[in-house]
Parts: sequence; structure tokens; C-alpha cells
Amino acid sequence: EMSVGVISRFAPSPTGLLHLGHAYSALLAHELAQRAQGRFLLRLEDIDSSRCRPAFVQAIFEDLAWLGLRWEEPPWIQSRRFAVYRAALDRLDAMGLLYPCFCTRKEIEAEAARRLSAPHGPEGPPYPGTCRALSAEERAARHQAGQPACLRLDVAAALARTGPLTWHDATAGEVEATPLLFGDVVLARKDTPTSYHLAVTVDDAAQGVTDVVRGRDLFEATHVHRLLQALLGLPTPRYHHHALLVGPDGKRYAKRDQSLTLAALRAAGERAEDIWRRVGVGPGEQEKRKAGEAGLPRPLGP
Ligand code: GLU
Repeated sequence: EMSVGVISRFAPSPTGLLHLGHAYSALLAHELAQRAQGRFLLRLEDIDSSRCRPAFVQAIFEDLAWLGLRWEEPPWIQSRRFAVYRAALDRLDAMGLLYPCFCTRKEIEAEAARRLSAPHGPEGPPYPGTCRALSAEERAARHQAGQPACLRLDVAAALARTGPLTWHDATAGEVEATPLLFGDVVLARKDTPTSYHLAVTVDDAAQGVTDVVRGRDLFEATHVHRLLQALLGLPTPRYHHHALLVGPDGKRYAKRDQSLTLAALRAAGERAEDIWRRVGVGPGEQEKRKAGEAGLPRPLGP
């Protein structure tokens, strides 16, 4: 076992086929580890059983191997780690920082619209905190009535406990954590005993990840992850939030772009080196970038 060094990871959710944007992210993470003679890990973020499919898991393995990536076996699989996330939740609960929330998505949207026109996070409008104010009796009554509840983190209380926090982004530099942006985030969903924020934070630490490479769309989520790290006593990795690749239409690649999945490009006869060239990362692409070859690549950065 290596004691120090760079450990990076790629952490896709098997809810669809990988596209060029994923290839870019995975190749960057791989390259970062390789350059430092570090380790590259793979983690399947499959906590959402209603959207994940075994066929997509298989496709992830095939696409990444085809791209020339090698990861340490075995890959980590989040759906097998619910007990670990539960233990983290219990610790936060013991600090008095969690509360059950019975709101439906509709109720949250209506309430948020009534209260503010704040920017919407990736998970919808910031939660207005409706259920934070419920009394113990009201909570008990709703539980008894069988109303499903998620668990939310009281972010203001958590921040009061930790004090101000910062984290480091390769492009943005030192960033002050502002996790209140999303309101009280969900740490355990109604249908799943964890959430993206909790699982990703716990696992990056458990896998010893030193460098998180991921898209700019998750930049703000890092505020929440930093807060959870402080609460749970976990180390803070360096973050590398990279630009999102855009397609010919100027829109970012997404799961809706079926023609730009790696599977489709491969079926159309493209080779791994064609993908490396398209995204500007991969064997040889680094040198071309240095040489300033035209038409290439999008460096890390917003
Ligand atoms: N599982 C997330 C996704 O596929 C990425 C998580 C991360 O890199 O932190 O969007």
C-alpha cells in the first residue's frame, strides 16, 4: 500500500450511457493520477435504485476500458454501503443536526415560490425549512400517521457548530464554503437511506481520495460536502471542477444526447484516440496542448 500520493476517482451514476462529457471527466481524473504515479479509482453511485440499471453498469465498465482507462479492482458500489452511510447519519443525528421533513416536492416548490426568488440548486429550489419548526408532538403524529419523511441537515445549526469553512479548487483557489445556498439539504431520502451529498462525502474519505475531479455543475455541492467533512471529522480533498463540454448546439452534453454516447460513437466506428482528440485529454493530447495545437482542448477551469 502506498502511503502518500494522488488518489483520484471517477464516480458515475449508472442511470444512462456515458457520453463525451463523462469521457472528459474520467480521462482528466485518470490523467491527474497517472501524472503523479498515483491511483485511479472507480465508484458506482447507484443509490437510486429506481433509476439505475445493471445494463448501464456493464456499459460503464466496457466504455471506460475501451477508452483505455484502468482502475483499481474492485470498483466501489454505493448500494452495498448503506450501513456505512447509516452510521454517519446516526452521528449527525446524535449532534442534533437532523430533522425529519414530510414535505412533498410540490409543497416545497409552492412554499419556495411564495418566499423567494433565489436561484435554484441542482435539486430544485432551496428548501425553505418548513419542517424544521415542527414540534416533537407534530413529528410523532405524522410518523404515526405513516407519512413518509426524509432527513434534512439543519445547515445553519451545523455551520454554527463548525464555524467558517474553506475548501480548495484548482481553478477558483481558496473558496469560502457557503452551504446555506441550498437550504437544509436532504441526507436521507424518503425512498433511500442516504443521499448523493452524504454518500459522496463519506466515500471520498473512505477511499482516501485526495483529488476530486468533476464537472463545474457540482461546484456548489462542494460547499455542502465541506460542511459534512467538518462535522464528521473527515479530510478535505483538493477539488478540480472542470468546464462542462458543450455540443455543437452550445448546450452541455447530457444523458439526452443519445448520439454522443460513447457506445454510439464506438458503434459509428470511432476509436479511443478519436475520443481523446475530441475532448483533448488522453495519451498524446497533453503534449499537443503544450505545443499549442489549434482546435484543441478545453483546459480545466470554469
Ligand atoms: N455521481 C455523480 C454523477 O454522475 C458524480 C459525483 C461526483 O463526481 O462527485 O453526476
